[in-house]
Amino acid sequence: MDIHYYAIATLLLSAVMTGVLSAYSFRSFRTSGSRPYAFLMACVSIYSLGYAMELYNTTLPWILIASKIQYFGISFIPILWFTVAASYAGYWKKIPRTLTVLLFVIPVTTLFFRLTNDWHHLVYKAVALNESGPFPVLSITRGIWYYVNTTFAYCCLLAGNFCFLIMAIRMVGPYRKQAVTLGAISLVPWIGDIIYQRGLSPYGLDVAPFAFALVGPMLAWGLFHLRIFDFVPIARDVIFDFMHDPVIVFDNADRLVDYNRAAVAMLGSLDRRSIGIHAEQVFEGYPALLESLDAGFSDNRDIHLEYRGSEYVYELSTMPIVANVQRPMGRIVMLHDVTEQRGLVRRLHDMATRDGLTGAFTHRYFMDLAQREMDRAGRHGRPLTFMLADIDLFKQVNDKYGHLAGDEVLRKVAAIIRKNLRSSDVFGRYGGEEFGLVLPETLPEDGKALADRIRGDLAELSIPFGEQDITVTVTVSFGVSGCHFEDGASESLVSLFQRADKMLYKAKRGGRNRVVLAEENPKAESRLT
Ligand code: GH3
Ligand code: MG
Ligand code: MG
Repeated sequence: MDIHYYAIATLLLSAVMTGVLSAYSFRSFRTSGSRPYAFLMACVSIYSLGYAMELYNTTLPWILIASKIQYFGISFIPILWFTVAASYAGYWKKIPRTLTVLLFVIPVTTLFFRLTNDWHHLVYKAVALNESGPFPVLSITRGIWYYVNTTFAYCCLLAGNFCFLIMAIRMVGPYRKQAVTLGAISLVPWIGDIIYQRGLSPYGLDVAPFAFALVGPMLAWGLFHLRIFDFVPIARDVIFDFMHDPVIVFDNADRLVDYNRAAVAMLGSLDRRSIGIHAEQVFEGYPALLESLDAGFSDNRDIHLEYRGSEYVYELSTMPIVANVQRPMGRIVMLHDVTEQRGLVRRLHDMATRDGLTGAFTHRYFMDLAQREMDRAGRHGRPLTFMLADIDLFKQVNDKYGHLAGDEVLRKVAAIIRKNLRSSDVFGRYGGEEFGLVLPETLPEDGKALADRIRGDLAELSIPFGEQDITVTVTVSFGVSGCHFEDGASESLVSLFQRADKMLYKAKRGGRNRVVLAEENPKAESRLT
């Protein structure tokens, strides 16, 4: 047997092998890169088969039919090669759909022109049978489209090499060796092309089908054996899609690039057609989100969102996608539902700072806040009033009606006091039936007037308790002290407190149910004098 038959046998074997690889990949793999790989192998198979036919036949008409069959494969091999490489590198999904369709225009045109070459001679200007060698081979004069297609094919091969090269650089650990191997494999078609163009192949045989037949199984090993297609992009896709946190990706013009399932669940109406729409449209109905986006990049900011009728707290982080140092390419917006945590923290804070019975601040927290208000008033030279309120003869309420009735009275008294306060006033339960009040921006005389008003409200109050129509009435005594920080005076909280305390005792001694205002502090030094 001469080389001619070896070549035919090898091509037939390659056609069967690449055909099997194609069918196997179609059946067994369901990943983004496996489909184009299966098509690539199918095209290589057709190419090999057509070339085997070409070599087997000795008459021009049959050789031309075989050549046309080859073009069903040849036309698509470069673009599929690029598709495989781009899928491996994760770029394919990022290419806009319309562009991917456009990329197939040249291969389809090539096939069409080859099949109809007799009418226009765009692919082959002329064909002849060269019988000078040991077996007849097709001799062609290249037409203009032949060059267009060859240029396109080289571009695809180069782009493919680029993808493999990028992966070889990017990959780490055990995948690096594999990526480098794949990069090396991707050079084989070039070697085949150089051998052919230089006329180094025996009898002018086209080595491309052999080169691709060789590359096919190696690619399969590289791509599927270590399951790179399965692992890297799929694992990322799965994590991205099954994250509970909504993730939305925008480009630097705030157009939607990507999103995950949680984002769809939250924002509704997002689908593949939404890619490219502006953030304003994506976050329609969520003005808080849009505002946060306008605020630029930040780490973990809480935003409150109304979603399906309930209020949620989301921790929002926006991260820049940086490809070059000058300018981010876009940003990733991530939302993490912290409604429960924030609720728990608030409850814990409330438990630590608020008295369970009356809802007033606890002694310690009240004193902290009082000090803060004192400092603020001193800093800004503003007046401040301090008050102590003590329920009169409360022990008797307990003794007469029981402690539960006493508790109810405490609750009601606290509610009446609170009703008379501004949101800036600080109200705490100082002791058993004693309350403390700090009124910022309030002159002592105004504070006294407020205390009188509260006292009046409380005196009118009758508190129903229990099943037997018991109503309890109580009165409250107030001791009031104040500081005119606006005059440049200075006074400590302790001193202010002691003066109010003294006035409270004075009120008690004076017959209870009254408000006593302390004289201006004689010891308070005026910083103006
Ligand atoms: P005064 O007019 O002089 O203030 O007389 P008083 O009876 O109000 O004063 P006293 O200090 O003798 O009694 C305070 C009472 O408050 C004693 C205590 O049992 C009661 N008390 C303190 N905390 C609570 C509480 O949380 N619930 C109830 N029911 N009673 C409480
Ligand atoms: Mg008391
Ligand atoms: Mg009392």
